[in-house]
Amino acid sequence: MQTAGNVHSSDDWVRDSKGTAYGFDAFLERITAFHGYPAPGLVIGAKMVDLALHAMPSGCLFDAIAETGHCLPDAIQMLTPCTAGNGWLKVMDLGRFALALYDKYNGDGVRVFIHTHKVAAWKEIDSWFFKRKPKAEQDSDALLREIQRAGEKILQMETIRVQPRLMVKDSVGTRGICPQCGESYPLKHGSACRACQGSSPYATA
Ligand code: ZN
Repeated sequence: MQTAGNVHSSDDWVRDSKGTAYGFDAFLERITAFHGYPAPGLVIGAKMVDLALHAMPSGCLFDAIAETGHCLPDAIQMLTPCTAGNGWLKVMDLGRFALALYDKYNGDGVRVFIHTHKVAAWKEIDSWFFKRKPKAEQDSDALLREIQRAGEKILQMETIRVQPRLMVKDSVGTRGICPQCGESYPLKHGSACRACQGSSPYATA
């Protein structure tokens, strides 16, 4: 991972953890390919990841936290090796548009969020962020261009230390066969799998 000493060219919107730079429009295309459409939250989220990456010590092995399931997990997955599937990204439903990167051994890191006071100076971003007008009335092009002009001016960064309980690897433990569905599940979940205990997302046929 490259962090310290990277100087942004004025055309770059973000750099990933390997140091590859993307211009604003090029990154919009990558977002569309990955996320389905050029979501403003992902454009800003990428800038948030970029800021956090540059603040982390060079060579640090880090994990990530997204404080919302909207957009930010994708920004982290597009720019770092942390994914929901490899366990290096934790997605938490705190409802805050914020993310953190932290040293996976000592928990020290940085948190980046949209600052509500700073965003007030940017009409389109403010209106989008606080959902002040219906999506249909939003001028998405004006919003994206304003995001590009604002860059990190709407963001705030702070140092954090992650709680030790979150840094313990969550082991699956011994597995058994659920007496109801017959599928394999971690025995620590109880006498039946969680789906059969009532947490199944599916309506019964
Ligand atoms: Zn079951």
